[in-house]
Amino acid sequence: MSRIVGIDLGTTNSAVATVDSGIPFVIADAEGNRLTPSVVHFPEKEEPVVGHKANRVRLIKPQETVYSAKRFMGRRGADIPREEMLVTYPVRGEGGGPVTIDIHDRSLTPEDVSAEVLKKLKRDAENYFGEPVTRAVITVPAYFNDAQRNATKAAGELAGFTVERIVNEPTAAALAYGLDKLKEKTKIAVYDLGGGTFDLSILELHNGVFQVLATHGNTRLGGDDLDKSIVDFLIEKIAPNVESLNGYMVASREIDSVIKQTNDATVLALLSRIREAAEHAKIKLSSENEVEIALPFLTPEFSFSCKLTRAELENLTREIILRTRPHCLRSLSDAKLEAKDLDQVILVGGQTRMPLVRQLVSEWFGCAEFTETRGEVRLGEEYHKAKGPQLNTSQNPDEAVALGAAIQAEILSGGFKHLLLLDITPLSLGIETFGGLMNVIIPRNTTIPVKAGEMFTTAVDNQKSMLIHVLQGERERAKDNWSLGRFELEFEPAPKGVPRVGVQFEIDANGILHALARDIKTGTQKIVQMKSAVDVDDADVQKMVEESVEHAFDDLRARQWIEEKIKAGGNISATRKTMAEFASELDPEYKTQLEAAIEAVEKVLEAEEPKTKTGDPRKLKEANANLDEVTKPLADFAMDKAMEALLRKRGMIE
Ligand code: AMP
Repeated sequence: MSRIVGIDLGTTNSAVATVDSGIPFVIADAEGNRLTPSVVHFPEKEEPVVGHKANRVRLIKPQETVYSAKRFMGRRGADIPREEMLVTYPVRGEGGGPVTIDIHDRSLTPEDVSAEVLKKLKRDAENYFGEPVTRAVITVPAYFNDAQRNATKAAGELAGFTVERIVNEPTAAALAYGLDKLKEKTKIAVYDLGGGTFDLSILELHNGVFQVLATHGNTRLGGDDLDKSIVDFLIEKIAPNVESLNGYMVASREIDSVIKQTNDATVLALLSRIREAAEHAKIKLSSENEVEIALPFLTPEFSFSCKLTRAELENLTREIILRTRPHCLRSLSDAKLEAKDLDQVILVGGQTRMPLVRQLVSEWFGCAEFTETRGEVRLGEEYHKAKGPQLNTSQNPDEAVALGAAIQAEILSGGFKHLLLLDITPLSLGIETFGGLMNVIIPRNTTIPVKAGEMFTTAVDNQKSMLIHVLQGERERAKDNWSLGRFELEFEPAPKGVPRVGVQFEIDANGILHALARDIKTGTQKIVQMKSAVDVDDADVQKMVEESVEHAFDDLRARQWIEEKIKAGGNISATRKTMAEFASELDPEYKTQLEAAIEAVEKVLEAEEPKTKTGDPRKLKEANANLDEVTKPLADFAMDKAMEALLRKRGMIE
């Protein structure tokens, strides 16, 4: 089997990572860059240009360069607010239709664009390994829905990958931080502030598997907003000296809309330089207290330079960072937790390198680290235990997600045996019940590990055992699903409906299914370990799901028929038994009526079954209802007789 790489397909930047000799690392491209801007330039004739090269032409060729395509993945035009459509390239999307990007004479989908980014990462990985790389784990935000996840998978396939798994970004980050090795029941907040998006997810590690308890964020809030506030600050100083920039000041503070509206190459080139300088200064101020922003020859007559201190940057951007706080509070409240209940807060996304971000997050979550780094008091472990979580910044925040994806890829390849699989059940699991029907105990897409059970009884008198036939699949009839195994539980014979057998399925964190059946009366039980319930080929899962949709109508009809048939069997034998018991006391005319109602049911069973295999459940339902109606006086009579016998036995009547 070929190797699997881990990919962080980000809104602003993407990265590909692998694990070698147990060490996860990000693969650099030929120029030594470990992060690839998720930007694609589509020239008219040549092949698309991806990454840093595309970023360089982004402001010069704004209409032909696509960035932030991830915002549009798997979304319908109607679901996207107008302001989100505000990008410098032409985006179209109405009603229930997908979003398209028209460049030259091509109509591109967001998946096409993301596929170009993924192709570049694939080439980088292949250059590194010197062999083809065809399998990948790709990460997505925790809030991505099914359509967005499928679009991401489709992008991977377009790029020539088999997508082995789609993993939640905060889960991948937690894996990269090695948090799976912490004590059981660890609770973690993942604060992810990237270039264009923010989210705060609360995860819980339980039995070796991460579960996302809550996630909130803003898909239009990130480092770019900080850059824009610096651009505004700079333009205010530059504009009086540069005629062409005055328009920008008046038109709008939204730089993307200015870029979209103007065709003036000089303005675009100027804005491009200013924006680059702004981001550069911001990044430098994470490690220095003051920077010099120099923009020589903005016009032939004018060169610009100014100083920017960290304190000034913080003043300019504090308000933007504060906008992330309500999302932190909402996530905590959704997860029904307080900050002090968390064990760790981990930082993800390049923008979290900024000291002010770290300081504010520490304050909000009451992190122990915060007091230490500011040198106020050093209360260490005691403080941590008493007050709040630890702020964990031990990983590169812009690489953590890709590293986590690589760790997940390694787990799937059979490595890191001590780590557990993060998974869901791809297909429903259940048992065969009377009449050959599938009774689902764990529905598909349930996060594992999971435990679920149900109580069953017998359908025949004096049954001595129950056969537990374990099934996997989405079809109504047992025979159409996959059989995972059978076992038998013995118990004392009793009238039908009396024995009670509890069946419980447990899928452990390794995806192994343990099926348990217990006779409630005696406590006798059997536990049988089945094969992996999650290790199923993707194509087989898809086939099963497609078949269940295709046969939905027939399957439902079959279930209804079988259920009515079981009811018919029960009603007929109960009626016959009661009729025999009170034969001498029943009115002959009523007896004939009862015989006719039984016969009508039997006729439907005989006439319908050979014809269509399953028969028409409506006809049988009608005949059953009629039999129910006709037997009502018989049932009342039997009940009166039973009561009379009881009272006589107790000496209450003669
Ligand atoms: P990401 O989307 O995680 O790649 O993050 C990209 C964002 O992080 C961009 O806005 C960058 O300007 C920002 N960024 C990267 N490094 C730093 C740094 N050292 N200090 C502040 N911001 C940074």
